[in-house]
Amino acid sequence: MITKSRFLSGLACPKRFWWEVHEPDAAELKPDAGTLWNFRQGQEVGRRARAAVPGARYEVTFKTDRILARADIVERLEDSSSALIEVKGSNRKKDEHLWDIAFQLHTARAAGAAVSRAELMYLNRDVRHPELDGLFIREDVTDEIAPMLAEIPARVAELEAVQAGPLPGDLRGPQCRECPFYDRCWPGDPHHVSRFYRLETAAKLALEQDGHQRFTDLPDDYKLTAIQQRQRRAAAQRGLVVDPGLARALDAWRGPLAFLDFETVSFAIPRFPGTTPWSKIPVQFSAHTEGGRHTAFLAADSADPRTQLATALLDACPGTGAVVAYHASFERGCVQGLAEAVPELAGPLLQLHGRIVDLEPVVYNHVYHSDFRGSFSLKVVLPTLVPDTSYAGLAITDGGMAQLELARLLYGETPLEPEEDARLRADLLAYCERDTWAMVRLYEVLRGM
Ligand code: SF4
Repeated sequence: MITKSRFLSGLACPKRFWWEVHEPDAAELKPDAGTLWNFRQGQEVGRRARAAVPGARYEVTFKTDRILARADIVERLEDSSSALIEVKGSNRKKDEHLWDIAFQLHTARAAGAAVSRAELMYLNRDVRHPELDGLFIREDVTDEIAPMLAEIPARVAELEAVQAGPLPGDLRGPQCRECPFYDRCWPGDPHHVSRFYRLETAAKLALEQDGHQRFTDLPDDYKLTAIQQRQRRAAAQRGLVVDPGLARALDAWRGPLAFLDFETVSFAIPRFPGTTPWSKIPVQFSAHTEGGRHTAFLAADSADPRTQLATALLDACPGTGAVVAYHASFERGCVQGLAEAVPELAGPLLQLHGRIVDLEPVVYNHVYHSDFRGSFSLKVVLPTLVPDTSYAGLAITDGGMAQLELARLLYGETPLEPEEDARLRADLLAYCERDTWAMVRLYEVLRGM
């Protein structure tokens, strides 16, 4: 039987669908920390949505002997027909949502239900805590999904054939970026042409089709960006390539430098004054300043932490020196949000905002090592360039996990035992400190180059 989620996977890629059907327990399908968090937030959104449509039926299953779908909400209409309402935790409408509700409508009608309307119900991005009356937008999409509805029987038949057949052949395309099976379909070679930085998927596949597998296989006159040329040189030399502009880029930052990293928790339903759905709330930071000072902040409890955090942040990053972050748009967004949330500190916070500089483009515009595997993520760059500083041995090793644990520590339904509370705090502090210490060490290593 083809379920809604498998149908949506099959629309994206029949091969992905085949693996989901034939290997439902594949390691790749286990949700990561970020997915688990989104799932939990989705459950909260579902509860709110049901409360907003009282008297309806909820979680209603429709099925035939070939297809199955579960509707979030089924509302009775005045003419005795029904409306299907699909609830989304997203704060905007997406194409996949339309296919989602179209599949439900098709299944419900095929199962004999008299459904005359299909709606999407998603979060209103303009709503601000505490005024949550307009939390949801309900949109009638019945007409919009009509062309999709007409396609569904043929699509289902195609997927049934895929399901009964052998594993499909090469279907790689732009959809692969979001696919959990990426590593099964794309070569693992760190110098494969698919690892060229910011190269379109179509161009990668065209290179392969022309017989070019590795960076070094390309003809000399093939047009590459400066970064891609460095990738090719690093592969040929099997080591590090440094652009001479690196020193100039680092010299542009005025000291004494501070190295800053935030951890945030993002709630689908706004929780603190002025926040909108999915606003990122900084609840923890770590800052190292040149000269060896380290400051850490971690919210004490479930209360709004932003005033205390902003005060501690200004204390941790005094003066006029550059504030270094890695992938700084995140830190800039956090500081901007703090300036709006704590207006009495907006002046100094905006001054700090103006001092934030980004270490990531300094790396990707000047440095490539043959072990980067096409990535400039700190989690790849760090162990390659600074092997004595890694995330090994930490209980928390990525931002998604940190968010889940921060939520458990600060916003869990039941308070933690004191020992567990202390252990979790220590783990979170250690992780965030490692992030900024990693930047300090990376900066030193780049200086040395
Ligand atoms: S990686 Fe691409 S081709 Fe392979 S299953 Fe996923 S989407 Fe399909």
